[in-house]
Amino acid sequence: MRGALGGPRVLLRRLREVMAEPVSAQDRLDKIVVLIAANMVAEVCSVYVLRVDQTLELYATEGLNRDAVHLTVMRVDEGLVGHVAREAESLALSDAHAHPEFSYRPETGEEVYNSFLGVPILRAGNTLGVLVVQNRARRTYTEEEIEALQTTAMVLAEMIASGELTALAKPGAEPAVRRPLHLKGVALADGLGLGHVVLHEPRIKVTNVIADDVVKETARLDAAIGKLRHSIDLMLEDDGLAKAGEHRDILEAYRMFAHDRGWMHKMREAVLSGLTAEGAVERVQSDTRARMMRASDPYLRERLHDLDDLANRLLRELTGRNRSSEREALPENAILVARNMSPAALLDYDRSRIRGLVLEEGGTTSHVTIVARALGIAAVGQVENAAGLADPGDPVIVDGQAGEVHLRPPGDVEEAYAEKVRFRARRQAQYAALRTRPSVTKDGVHIELHLNAGLLVDLPHVTETGAAGIGLFRTELQFMIASAFPRISEQLKLYRAVLDAAGERPVTFRTLDIGGDKVLPYMRTVEEENPALGWRAIRLGLDRPGLLRSQLRALLRAGAGRELRIMFPMVAAVEEFDRARAIVERELTHLRKHGHGLPEKVYVGAMVEVPSLLFQLDEILSRADFLSVGSNDLVQFLYAADRSNVRVADRFDPLSPPALRAFRLVAEAGLRHGKPVTLCGELASRPLEAVALAALGYRALSVSPASIGPVKAMMLELDVSAARKVLLPLLEDKSGMADPRAALSAFAKASGLPI
Ligand code: PEP
Ligand code: MG
Repeated sequence: MRGALGGPRVLLRRLREVMAEPVSAQDRLDKIVVLIAANMVAEVCSVYVLRVDQTLELYATEGLNRDAVHLTVMRVDEGLVGHVAREAESLALSDAHAHPEFSYRPETGEEVYNSFLGVPILRAGNTLGVLVVQNRARRTYTEEEIEALQTTAMVLAEMIASGELTALAKPGAEPAVRRPLHLKGVALADGLGLGHVVLHEPRIKVTNVIADDVVKETARLDAAIGKLRHSIDLMLEDDGLAKAGEHRDILEAYRMFAHDRGWMHKMREAVLSGLTAEGAVERVQSDTRARMMRASDPYLRERLHDLDDLANRLLRELTGRNRSSEREALPENAILVARNMSPAALLDYDRSRIRGLVLEEGGTTSHVTIVARALGIAAVGQVENAAGLADPGDPVIVDGQAGEVHLRPPGDVEEAYAEKVRFRARRQAQYAALRTRPSVTKDGVHIELHLNAGLLVDLPHVTETGAAGIGLFRTELQFMIASAFPRISEQLKLYRAVLDAAGERPVTFRTLDIGGDKVLPYMRTVEEENPALGWRAIRLGLDRPGLLRSQLRALLRAGAGRELRIMFPMVAAVEEFDRARAIVERELTHLRKHGHGLPEKVYVGAMVEVPSLLFQLDEILSRADFLSVGSNDLVQFLYAADRSNVRVADRFDPLSPPALRAFRLVAEAGLRHGKPVTLCGELASRPLEAVALAALGYRALSVSPASIGPVKAMMLELDVSAARKVLLPLLEDKSGMADPRAALSAFAKASGLPI
């Protein structure tokens, strides 16, 4: 038997004509299967569509019993068609009956066909259906035929994705492509966001997949690959970019892939089978995605991201579209969906239009999470394949409390969420009523609640929430959103605005905490193996005193005539604190000499976020005016678990005895020295964790703006001495079995605490 009749290109051209005909969806499908069967010299061609209930329905056939259309339905764990859908891989058999998964459907009359070739209908790596050809004779399908059928399946993928087939479906059995999805992830930032999907790095939509002129398309593909390679080389040569550690590794990987012969070969083959250059890139990438998404190896999955990026870059070369033009079209109620995002990228968006954030990665204390929380954006992380499943404009609900996402939600889910939103609004009103109530526990312990901030947009929160002050002002955020180092005058302006907004309330400014995952795009840094343990925060400040000096100068000038609180991040040795404090003194002298107004009083403190400081508490407390525990970093370093690596970030519970003992050490040392101790990590923002901190002796916490209400509502009901009786014995327990979280949860429940 000879292969494809007239070749795949002829078939594609005919298909394009059929796609353009003004006929019904069913007629179009019927014509398509006839065309494919004739072209492939097959007796049978059938299209199965994956439905919302994850079954496969026969939508059209040439050769099988036509009465079976829309009647034959099978599960994905059933038969050869199910196998193709499940594995998202082609299956070619010369003796289909011999395959262990062969299952026979009498209504189709397929028992006489021996050879079977099935290919998945894929879009962005997701299976939408299965396209099958069958022959009576035992035959081996050639590579070219398999390739041709895969190419044809792309046309069907676009047809299914367009929603054209939905009209043919019974209610509740629509094609799965647009089905509602309930995706589970991890709660990153509290809140409910209802809106429409905006892909942070949008896939380029390929509309024209069928080529007119193969020679021309091959040339276009080659030219685009050439440009892609060149642009990667340029990026690698660009010192500024190339030196930025991790970035360089990614670029090196891109360069490797961009020269990968297998990848090139597959795309060229796809063009030769009749696709446009764009269609070929998309097809090869969709296949690759489908295969790699089934891999559990994290390394392979990481490479998939690289390949996705690269394919998208190639599509940009081909379509001439760039990123900035897409940025403008941010709709109202945007829900950003991304694999991952840097804090700076999030800050780049128009905050007033963003209602939610969905990430495939993202840990609970990673900086993009902190920024989302600061901006009051509901966020959910670790949602598998979120960016692959969502299409721009899809309706979506982000539940930042439960850590869930509803993509294309059905009506009843939407209604339930509308009710939740009303409920939250009522609760917010209750919190607002607590605004002026002092945060005093039932047994009369005053626990000050401050808030964490870092941007101008945070400032209205100070009065809105009734916070006692700003316990942590992350000064680096201004640097992260800028395109060049902010000048002293710009820094001064921000710091003054912060102090003005706070009025009488204290503000604790933390000096620049850059390095680690807080990268300044315009600052050259050296490549580091372990940036979290590297040249960051105060280390960088002391080595680059010019930067620290100018920041301190801006802070001291902004604080003229008022009290000023400054603290240094990542202090690991008291000597670092001494040197940093000396710079403060020098700047004060300088300002005095030049006749500038000075703060009435300057308090200088240290953050406790490196474990070494736990063992120099007396030394640091005899020097510092106050301490603030950065539990995000302290827990990361105590457990050696990278806070921005989702595989380990939440592996260890900060409510475990080792971490709680560490927090207790600091609180008790502060009491001994009569110096204030605060905790400003994300931990304090969760009511149950705040119970533990109050029990350990903390009398001031700094939390995200949205947490002031819930934490205060809890404090008003808390009996601290009762909580101490529950928690402290557990810290003495040496069995290794103590479970403070469970004990505190039970205590909270029994005491009716709003947790
Ligand atoms: C911390 O480490 O807990 C902290 C408050 O600082 P950041 O999260 O900015 O590193
Ligand atoms: Mg920190």
